[in-house]
Amino acid sequence: MTKTQGPSYSAIELLAHLVSFDTTSSKNNLGLIGFVEDYLREHDVASRRIVSEDGQKSSLYATIGPEGQSGVALSGHTDVVPVDGQVWSSDPFTLRAADGRLYGRGAADMKGFIAAALAAVPDFKARKLSTPIHLAFSYDEEIGCIGVRPMIAELGTHLPKPRMVIVGEPTSMQVVDAHKGPVRWQVDVKGRAAHSSMAHLGVNAVTYATRLVGELERIEAELKQRVIDVRFEPPYSTLQVTKIEGGTATNIVPVSCRFVFDIRALPGLSPDEIESRLTRFAEVHCLPEMRSIAPEADIEIARVNAVPPFGAARTSEVVALALKLTGQNETFGVSYGTEAGLFQDAGAPSVVCGPGDIAQAHTADEWIAESQITACQGFLKRLGDWAAA
Ligand SMILES: [Zn+2]
Repeated sequence: MTKTQGPSYSAIELLAHLVSFDTTSSKNNLGLIGFVEDYLREHDVASRRIVSEDGQKSSLYATIGPEGQSGVALSGHTDVVPVDGQVWSSDPFTLRAADGRLYGRGAADMKGFIAAALAAVPDFKARKLSTPIHLAFSYDEEIGCIGVRPMIAELGTHLPKPRMVIVGEPTSMQVVDAHKGPVRWQVDVKGRAAHSSMAHLGVNAVTYATRLVGELERIEAELKQRVIDVRFEPPYSTLQVTKIEGGTATNIVPVSCRFVFDIRALPGLSPDEIESRLTRFAEVHCLPEMRSIAPEADIEIARVNAVPPFGAARTSEVVALALKLTGQNETFGVSYGTEAGLFQDAGAPSVVCGPGDIAQAHTADEWIAESQITACQGFLKRLGDWAAA
């Protein structure tokens, strides 16, 4: 049976198309998704949208090769960080080539990888793959790996669950098998207002908030001593209180105080453990005292966002595959978060390997070296060889 071949774009032409859609996380990505969907359809590849609750954004999942089998997923996020406040030498949403570099928002993080994956589709299609290759394109990664979660939730039910996942974040095509996980909490302390001259009638929310901050400082000091992993910079989990606000006026005992703290957790550190320690401290060292004056006093500790840390197993099949495909023999750990930990926690072992340098991600005049796109194309060609064997 002969099928009409769709238009074949080069990876760079595809990248130019992808960059032309302003998919800043605060905007919708449906134009880009429609483009990718059409491209795949022209190559006779069916895809499925996983639409966000408000209908403004969508992930896309597609399978090339035999159905009913688990294969290798190529995962990439379609959203990009804002260009607001940055000074660019040219329009960030028009790909510009100069001196072997391709400039544009998302060129490195991470539309370059998506372009290379799409450019490989005709080659994947032309072969008799015995192991399927899945495409898993998400949204809202830049605001806390939000969009990939509903897609992951459907793996194994509405979507074929991959046996392994390659997350194409920019690693300069090196093999990353571990990263830290950013976790954020918001703490609300509720006291009781009183005239500051009658302080004994009130409960000072700022005072109790600082007590909690003091405990966090002790936890931070302990984290620095613990599980030193020299593959990371810095080699320990970090904890920082990053925002605090409270109080009403100089002569009122403050009724409320809110602060936010952030942990960059090494693989193996449990955010639950940190949270229950702070909760226990609140229950023992703050609340009884507070409630003896104001029964309504309260401390609420809420996890706002968590991207799990990622650490591949020593025996990981997908890490071995990525090393083989890149021809390397060394793996790396990085301090930024990716979707790899989420896939891995859902039972799909992952690795991070993609074109471009993280140093250029999120910057003005973001660029990717053309040679990185070429290297990624070679990697995907060898992936096709492997999947057809
Ligand atoms: Zn990224």
